[in-house]
Amino acid sequence: MISYSDALQMITATVKPLPVVELPLMDALGHVLAQKIHARWDLPLLDNSAMDGFAFAFAGQGAGSELAVAGLQRAGGTAIAAVTAGECVKIMTGAPLPVGCDTVVPVEDIAETAGGIRLKEPASQGAHVRRRGEEFRQDEHLLSPGCRLRAGEIGMLAAAGIERVRVHRKPVVALLSTGDELVELGTRPGPGQIVNSNRYLLAARLREEGVTVEALGVASDAEGALEPLLRRGLQADLLITTGGISAGDYDLVRKTLLGLGLDLAFWKVAIKPGKPVLFGTLGGVPVFGLPGNPAAAAATFQLFVRPALQRLAGHADPWPVLLKAVLAAKVKGGSSRQTFLWGRLSRQGQEYVFTPSRAQGSGQNRGMAGTQALLPVASASPDLAAGSTVEVMLIYLPDGGTPT
Ligand code: AMP
Ligand code: MG
Repeated sequence: MISYSDALQMITATVKPLPVVELPLMDALGHVLAQKIHARWDLPLLDNSAMDGFAFAFAGQGAGSELAVAGLQRAGGTAIAAVTAGECVKIMTGAPLPVGCDTVVPVEDIAETAGGIRLKEPASQGAHVRRRGEEFRQDEHLLSPGCRLRAGEIGMLAAAGIERVRVHRKPVVALLSTGDELVELGTRPGPGQIVNSNRYLLAARLREEGVTVEALGVASDAEGALEPLLRRGLQADLLITTGGISAGDYDLVRKTLLGLGLDLAFWKVAIKPGKPVLFGTLGGVPVFGLPGNPAAAAATFQLFVRPALQRLAGHADPWPVLLKAVLAAKVKGGSSRQTFLWGRLSRQGQEYVFTPSRAQGSGQNRGMAGTQALLPVASASPDLAAGSTVEVMLIYLPDGGTPT
C-alpha cells in the first residue's frame, strides 16, 4: 500500500491547472492569476495632500510663522494657481497640491489668526505630501501568474485601472453518493436507512473552496445504476464519489470505473481513516472514490481532493498548510498506518493549541464538527506527550483570539 505522501505526489503530478479565461475584475475574486499585470497609470496621478491642512511653498517657516490663506483646494478638482510667498491654501486630504506648493501642515498643527494661520510647530519641507507615482509607476509590474486574487489584490488592481484579468477557470465538481441505504434529507430514514450526509458535508466543503458543485444524487449499489451517473459526472472538471469503494460484495464503484476506462493511479493508501480511497483519471478528468464513512470521506477530501482542487485552480503549491501547535492532551502512537486525528485549534497566548477531538471514529458524523485541523501521526510512532509541539494540517483558522 502506498503512503500518503506518495499518493499526494501522484495527484499533484497528474492534475493540471484548468484553462485560462478572461473575466471582469470583480468576477475574478478567488481565482488564480494567469498573467503578469502592469499598472495602467502612475499612482497617485498627481502630487496631493495626505492630510486636511494648509499647503504652501516651504521657505524655512519655523514655529510661530504666519501665513495668509489665499484659497481652498478641494479633493477632485484641478490644482489651483500659484500662491505667493507668505500665502497658503486650505487643502483637503487627497486634493491636488496647488501649483508651487511642496509642503502641508495638518490642521491640528496650526492656530487660526484674523487673516490666516500660525504654525504651532516648525514646518518640514515635503511633509504630508504624496508624490505622483510614489505607490507605483505606469507599466510597473504589480502581480505575477499564480497569485490568488483576494480583496487586497482586487482593490489594488482597480486603483491601477485593470478592468479585466486572465485567470484560471474555477472547477465544477460532480458529487455522487452511492449506497442502497441512503435517503435524501427531507425523507425520514426508515429502518436500515440513513441520510446522505456526505453530500452535505462535501458540498459544503466544496463551496467553502469556491467550487461549483453538481450533486448527482444517490446511485444504488448496482453497476447498471452507477454507470450512467458516473458518465454524467465525467462532464465536470473533477468527479467525487463516496461509498462503495472498499471490499464489500456491493462495493462496485472501482469495478464500474475500470469498466469505463479509468486510468487508476492508486486504490488504498496506508492511512487511517480513509484507507480505501481511490484516485485516477478518466478521459483526463480526475476521479476520486472516497470511502462512505463520513469522517473518512471528510478526511480524504481534505488530504487528497483539496490539493487536486488547488492544482486545478492554478496554485503552484497545492500542499496542505502546516501549522505548529502545542498538544493539549496525550496522543497514542503506534498504529500500523499513518493516522490523522481531528482536533480543535485555539490560540492561547503566543501559541496555537491543538485539542484532539474525542470523536475519531471513521463512521462518526461529528468527527469534523467543531474542528479546525488534522494531526498526522506517523505509523509506528511513539506516544506524543501533552505539551509537545506538533505540526497540524490547517483546515480553518480559529474564528478569534483572545488579546494577549
Ligand atoms: P461503504 O463505503 O459504501 O461501505 O460505506 C461505509 C459506511 O458509510 C456505511 O455505514 C454507509 O452506510 C456509510 N455511508 C456511505 N455513504 C454515505 C453517505 N453518503 N452519507 C452518510 N453515510 C454514508
Ligand atoms: Mg456502500
